[in-house]
Amino acid sequence: MPLESIPEFTHPAAKLWKAIPADTRKLILANVWCGKCSHGVTIRNFSGAVKGGNLLLVGKCSDCHGDVARVVESK
Ligand SMILES: [Zn+2]
Repeated sequence: MPLESIPEFTHPAAKLWKAIPADTRKLILANVWCGKCSHGVTIRNFSGAVKGGNLLLVGKCSDCHGDVARVVESK
C-alpha cells in the first residue's frame, strides 16, 4: 500500500501523518502491537483519526487479521 494513499484518514489525521518522515511512517506501520499475536505486526487497511491531539491509527493485523490500533504521539 503506498504511504501517500490515505483515503480513510480524516483531514486533521492526514495532516499529522504527512508531517511524519516517510521512514518513520514505515517503522510505525511495521511495529504495531497485536494482543492476539503477542508481538509487533504490520498494520493493514488502516484508517486514521485524531484523538486527544494524537494521531490514532486503526486497522487489521497482518498475521491474524484481528483489530489493531496504534497511537502516534505528536510532539
Ligand atoms: Zn495478530
